[in-house]
Amino acid sequence: MQYQKTHVIDLPQRIVVGSGVRKEISKHFKELGLGCPIIVITGSGPTRSIGQEIKDYLEDSQFDVFQVEINSASIESVSKVEEISREVKCKVIMGLGGGKAIDVAKYVAYKLDVDFISVPTSASHDGLVSPFASLKGMNTIYSMKAKAPLMVLADIELIAKAPRRFLIAGCGDLIGKFTAVLDWQLAHKLRGEYYGQYAASLALLSAKHIISLSDIIARGGEEAARIVVEGLISSGVAMCIAGSTRPASGSEHLFSHALDLVANFPAPHGEQVGVGTIMMAYLHGRKWSMIRKVLKKLGAPTTAKELGVNSEKIIEALTIAHKIRPERYTILGEKGLTREAAEKLAKTTGVIDEDS
Ligand SMILES: [Zn+2]
Repeated sequence: MQYQKTHVIDLPQRIVVGSGVRKEISKHFKELGLGCPIIVITGSGPTRSIGQEIKDYLEDSQFDVFQVEINSASIESVSKVEEISREVKCKVIMGLGGGKAIDVAKYVAYKLDVDFISVPTSASHDGLVSPFASLKGMNTIYSMKAKAPLMVLADIELIAKAPRRFLIAGCGDLIGKFTAVLDWQLAHKLRGEYYGQYAASLALLSAKHIISLSDIIARGGEEAARIVVEGLISSGVAMCIAGSTRPASGSEHLFSHALDLVANFPAPHGEQVGVGTIMMAYLHGRKWSMIRKVLKKLGAPTTAKELGVNSEKIIEALTIAHKIRPERYTILGEKGLTREAAEKLAKTTGVIDEDS
C-alpha cells in the first residue's frame, strides 16, 4: 500500500461567506496583511462592473489595483495575465467570476508564487475553492495543480443574483462526489492507492448536504445560494486536504470530460457531472434512481436531450471515458465499457430513450 510520509496541506486562511461581504474586502485584506499591487481578473461581461466596484473599495483603502479582463480560461489568457503581473510586480492575484477568471488567477498565482484570492460570483462548480485549475490549450482536459486560495470571499447577494442554471450546475458537481468517493475507495482496494478517509468524508458530506437540503435549494434565493456555496467550499477543502482532485472527481467527471471532447462542451460542467453520476451510481450498484430524482427536483438535466446532445454522443463518451485519465482508476476499469454496455447503461438509467 502506498504510504505518504509527508503530507502538506495548503488550506484557505480565511473564508468569508455572507450577503454583501464584498463591501468589506479592504478590511480582510488589511487583517491578512496582504500586499499590493493587486491584479483583479474578471470576465468582459457582468463581472467587469463588479470588479470595478471591488477595485474602488480597495483603492479607497490605498491599495494599488489593476483590473485585467479575460475572455476564456485558456493558455492565452494565462500569458496575458502573467505578463501584466510580472510587469507591475503584483503581490496578489484575485480571480472574480464564475470560473474562468478564477482558473486563470489561481494558475498564474501558482506560476509566480504570489497570493491568490477567490471571489466567486456564481456557484457552478467546486473549482472556486480548490487548488486545481482547468484551462483550455494545455495538454490535458482535466484540472492541473494550481494555487490554493489564501482567502475565499463569497458574496451571497451576488451569487443569488446569478442565473439559476449556475447554482443547479453547482449541485450536479456536488452530487458527483458520491461516485467520486466510491471510485476512490475502489482504487484504494484494488490498486493500493492512497486513500484519505477524512478528505473522502468531507467530500461526501457536501453531496449529502445538497440531497438533504434539496427542497430549500429548489426554492432558490439567498438561502439556496448559501447552501450550495458551503457545499462547494467543503468539497474544495477536501481537495486541499487530499492534495489531489480524487475526493471530488471520479468516473462521473471522466464521463463529463469525455462528453466535452466528443460534443465540444455541450452543457455546463456540473450538469454533465450530474448525469454522469446517475450512470456511474448504477455501475457501482448504488441508488442511481434517488440521485436522478433529486436532480429532477432541482431542475437539473437527467437526459441526453436536456444536456443538448444526441444519444450517440452519450454512448461515445461512455466508451472513451476510461481513456481520459488512465492513471485514475474508477468503476470504468482499464478497458472501459463496450458499446453495447454503454448503450444499455444509458437506456436503463433513462439518460437516452429506449427506442433510440
Ligand atoms: Zn467538477
